[in-house]
Amino acid sequence: MNTASPDRIPDNLPDHIQHYIDGAFVDSVDGDTFDVVDPVTSQAYIKAAAGKKADIEAAAAAANAAFHDGPWPKMLPRERSRILHRIADIVESRGDAVAKTESYDSGLPITQALGQAHRSAENFRFFADLIVAQVDDVFKVPGRQINYVNRKPIGVAGLITPWNTPFMQESWKLGPALATGNTVILKPAEFTPLSAGLWPGIFEEAGLPKGVFNLVNGLGEDAGDALVKHPDVPLISFTGESGTGRLIFGNAAPFLKGLSMELGGKSPAIVFADADLETAIDATIFGVFSLNGERCTAGSRILVQRSIYDEFVERYAAQAKRVRVGFPDDPATEVGALVHPEHFAKVMSYIEIGKTESRLVAGGGRPAAFPEGNFVEPTVFADVPRTARIFQEEIFGPVVAITPFEDEAEALELANDTRYGLAAYLWTNDLKRAHNFAQAIDSGMVWLNSNNVRDLRTPFGGVKASGLGHEGGYRSVDFYTHQQAIHITLGAVHNPTFGK
Ligand code: NAD
Repeated sequence: MNTASPDRIPDNLPDHIQHYIDGAFVDSVDGDTFDVVDPVTSQAYIKAAAGKKADIEAAAAAANAAFHDGPWPKMLPRERSRILHRIADIVESRGDAVAKTESYDSGLPITQALGQAHRSAENFRFFADLIVAQVDDVFKVPGRQINYVNRKPIGVAGLITPWNTPFMQESWKLGPALATGNTVILKPAEFTPLSAGLWPGIFEEAGLPKGVFNLVNGLGEDAGDALVKHPDVPLISFTGESGTGRLIFGNAAPFLKGLSMELGGKSPAIVFADADLETAIDATIFGVFSLNGERCTAGSRILVQRSIYDEFVERYAAQAKRVRVGFPDDPATEVGALVHPEHFAKVMSYIEIGKTESRLVAGGGRPAAFPEGNFVEPTVFADVPRTARIFQEEIFGPVVAITPFEDEAEALELANDTRYGLAAYLWTNDLKRAHNFAQAIDSGMVWLNSNNVRDLRTPFGGVKASGLGHEGGYRSVDFYTHQQAIHITLGAVHNPTFGK
């Protein structure tokens, strides 16, 4: 049996996890807490403040005061940008510590958590740069009018985030929300509240004014729900499951809030016979087993052309069996521990369902070397029919479904045959097919002969049950700002006279 190293525990663990409201760490108004569980032992290791309506009230009051009376929204973009760059510098310089905290809390392999820490810094740096380069439109009507756009921050943005790569997901919302001059309330996922507790120190050191950033921990149905229903929080940016997104959409409707929804996925990777097979296998292994398979854009359905199907399945299964499951803090680990026993149970139940629906060719349960904790073998099912639950439903773990297709038409039909539409990965060396096929897929994003390599300027988001709206680059700036149109008459007043 393997034993986890005590060195994996982050330095300076707090006594318990608190909220951060109006520049101070505080407990819940009612003193309530919830347990946070170590993915490696499945034991509770710390308590976190369980926020409710009263805590959201306090955070909303602080964030509104900072918005209406504080300097942040009125600062020059360059001044805000400087602070955001300082945040990026601090996150980068403490990458190892951030990664250690994140890996401990979420079970992510340490090397991948480090990559996500660097990406978090980049999210701030990117929006810091974008906001100073921001231009807005001016429209000229010769001799008559000049009209321009006055872009304004909206107010308090409610940011609700999931537990997969939590620190990075938080930075993806914090970066643009703050860059554009809003104040925020962050409600992190209850499975992984630890790394969010690093933000207050980082923000204070970087010089973010008091009350601009507020953090309320707690369960989705309590703290999250109160945030969605707070009348003085006009924006909600949500990332999480499609079902939760649907509920939030309904709950926000009476308040007519601005909503950005980044939801679930069941993304296809389509491998044609003319693809570079070696690269396609490497990339599709990484595409579903990286980040423990707890990745919204995971290529969790692999569609393979019949003429190379048997060879692909054999080579893929052999390589999947070599993917190294280990303790999250071990730099050699490729798949760590899933985030929480509840999620572990869900993934294991899908593996049992898969065994009744298709052919198991690799993995299929808990690795023998890890009798406790949320460890799962990289698991591969072949000959998966399109009606199978493991083809249709998001598992969000290291489990992949492989399905054969005959021709382009069948591949497209299979690719689009789920309720989701987040990402797609296409492997072919035929230029025309690559573009025609990519354009026909119902997904928000497509990668051609590539893994998920992000360019922060491009739109990020899904179609169908995978999301509503797109963030990324100037689209995020648009979501977090009002674009007020101001019209000025230059010539004679254009005004039909009534009632003379
Ligand atoms: P989840 O929907 O269970 O929870 C997400 C967040 O919503 C948490 O902070 C939770 O506390 C909160 N929440 C839950 N119920 C709420 C309610 N009634 N009102 C307000 N807030 C509520 O999702 P999860 O399990 O944390 O995350 C995994 C899911 O996120 C997967 O489906 C994954 O695909 C998706 N995801 C999508 C993207 C994307 O960009 N499209 C990125 C990462 C994760």
